[in-house]
Order: sequence, then structure tokens, then C-alpha cells
Amino acid sequence: MIDLKKFSSLQKASKQSFQQQKLMIKKLMLGQQVLCPKCQQPIQLNLPVSTEKPNNNKSSSISCAKGCTDIELEFIL
Ligand SMILES: [Zn+2]
Repeated sequence: MIDLKKFSSLQKASKQSFQQQKLMIKKLMLGQQVLCPKCQQPIQLNLPVSTEKPNNNKSSSISCAKGCTDIELEFIL
């Protein structure tokens, strides 16, 4: 059974974290250091190695060393 109250609070949280993610990505793109909110390790911007094949499925991502933050960048910045 789905706990609807829990579900809606989860949705709220993910909306909020989406805004935070966008902010993190912006900072990373500007070359600023961003720390993972969970482990406080620096988050790195991982760009695809090859840009020769724009249609491949490899997308950019941001992640911390421990991996608790690992966000694939699917949207256009
Ligand atoms: Zn982390």
C-alpha cells in the first residue's frame, strides 16, 4: 500500500533537490567547488570523453567521490 502523505512529501523533496541540483551544476560549470550535501566531499563534473558522437547515450554527470551524489545530466543547461 502506498502511503500518500509520504509520497507527496517525497515529491516535494525531489522538486526542491532538483533546484539544488541545478544550482550545483551551475556552480560546477563556473568552476566553483561544490561539496556533496551528504559526505561533504567535492563534487566533480564528469563530461563525456568523446564528443565526436553526439547521439551516443553517454551523458554528462556530476558525482562525488563516495557516490552518494550521482546525477546524470539529461537536460540542456
Ligand atoms: Zn557524497
